[in-house]
Order: sequence, then structure tokens, then C-alpha cells
Amino acid sequence: MFLQGKTALITGSTSGIGLGYARALAAEGAKVMINGFGDTEGIKENVIHLQQLSGTGAAYSDADMTKPDQIRAMIADCSRELGSPDILINNAGIQHVAPVDEFPEDKWDAVLAIILSSAFHTTKAALPAMKKAGWGRVINTGSMHSLVASPYKSAYNAAKHGLAGFTKTIALEVATQGITVNCICPGYVWTSLVENQIPDTMKARGLTREQVINDVLLANQPQKKFVQVDQLAALALFLCRDEASAITGTNLSVDGGWTAQ
Ligand code: NAD
Repeated sequence: MFLQGKTALITGSTSGIGLGYARALAAEGAKVMINGFGDTEGIKENVIHLQQLSGTGAAYSDADMTKPDQIRAMIADCSRELGSPDILINNAGIQHVAPVDEFPEDKWDAVLAIILSSAFHTTKAALPAMKKAGWGRVINTGSMHSLVASPYKSAYNAAKHGLAGFTKTIALEVATQGITVNCICPGYVWTSLVENQIPDTMKARGLTREQVINDVLLANQPQKKFVQVDQLAALALFLCRDEASAITGTNLSVDGGWTAQ
């Protein structure tokens, strides 16, 4: 339980990768605030489960990552209810798949706001307490699309590349203050975010569901299997350890070999 006494805030953690991070951190004793959308009963059950795992506190914020005032309120609520975040994981994300000349403006704005601008607003609000404590971990969920591109994902690729640059910049700014800032860059992980983009990809490329899975999603993932949420959670936990204190400003690929090509 090496995270006893620490507080973690994870954006976009009502499902998928974020919930995996939350469970792993709680199992090591961290107080965890989760965030995101979803059915109220399911979220309540997740908070109770996280409380049981950590043996201390857990909480939920329904802050919308497109709304800077709600993001600032979430950090304040976390500080009041569980303590100021020692570990901040910027994980919320959405996807939209369309050729750029047909890309809806509102989708562009939403993808950029949720993936990139929200990380700026959370980090800005959370860093002062980390600096005061002389310890902190900021972990951003990037993507292989932080490092390389695929067609029809202009907003997502732009936001995730932006997040990679943001990670490096903040790591340099706080390098001497006991705070590390890193970006975990997964290949395809089987979560609702991936499942939900299948219909649009079928439409954009004129393919069947099986063709999208095998010929698009896994086509460039050399291991030919989806990355597991637990593998990402294990890396996030390692980044929180003292042994990882020299790892900062990195974009760490967990992509089955995708970006080796
Ligand atoms: P997911 O859909 O299961 O999780 C997304 C989370 O973000 C959910 O909790 C959702 O409620 C939340 N969210 C969405 N819009 C929000 C908003 N406006 N405000 C607050 N929360 C919001 O998907 P996931 O696959 O677990 O994705 C998590 C992160 O991992 C994303 O940043 C995604 O880009 C990244 N990622 C996923 C994959 C993959 O293959 N699944 C690969 C690389 C990177």
C-alpha cells in the first residue's frame, strides 16, 4: 500500500482506462476522486468499490472537461473532500472520425477541449499544492496518436500530439521540485471509446465491423492484440513510485509495437 496518505484525481475515469487507473491506485491505498459521465448507480457502485479497495476515501466529480470553471471547482472539491491531488491523471477523451473537409466544427472544439485544454486547466489548478508538498505526479493519457497519425482523426491526433508537447513543457518547468510529468501512449485498448468509433470508421472507409477491427484497428499493431487496461494501470503505478522519480517529460509507448514501424 505504497500510496497511503496520497490523493489521486483521474479525469474521465467512470469507465475504461481511467477506471483501471483508479482501481490500481486505490488498491495501493490512495484516496481517489473519479470523474466522467455515466449511469448514476454504476458510478455510486464504483465509488463504494474504490473506498473498499483503498480503505480510506473515494469521491466522484461530474465536472465537464469542456468547462474550465467546472474543472477548477473539481480540483477545489477534491482538495476539500480528499486532500489536494498529489497524483493527477489527465485521461478524459473522446474520438470523432471523419475526413477533415467534413469534420464538424463542434466535434473539433470538443475533442480539443476534452483532451488538451482540460489538461492545461487541471494542471494549472493542481500544481501549486504539489509544489508546496515537494512531491507530485502528473500522468497524461496520450496515445500512439501522440507520436504518429492515422487519417480521419485530425482533431484527436492534433490534441494528442499537443498533449505530448504539453507533457514535455510542464516536466521542464517543475523538474527540480519533486514532480514528474509523463504521458502514457497506448495502442488500441478494447474500451467503449474504441467500440464506439467502429460504426463511423465503417462508414468513412466502407468496411464491415470485422474488417475495421482486423484491417484498420489492429492492422498496424504488430502484436495483433489489444493492449489491456491492467497493463496501463501497472505503468501508472510504477510512475508513482520513488524508483520512477527520474522518469519525466517522456511519452511512454504501450502499443504492441505500433510506433516501432
Ligand atoms: P472511455 O470512453 O471508456 O473513457 C473515456 C472517459 O472520459 C469516460 O469516463 C467518459 O465519461 C469521460 N469523458 C468523456 N467526455 C467527458 C467530458 N466532457 N468531461 C469529463 N469526462 C468525459 O475510453 P478509454 O478508451 O478508456 O479512453 C480513456 C483515454 O485513453 C482517452 O484519453 C483516450 O483517448 C485514451 N486512449 C484510448 C485508447 C483505446 O484504444 N481505447 C488508445 C489510446 C489512448
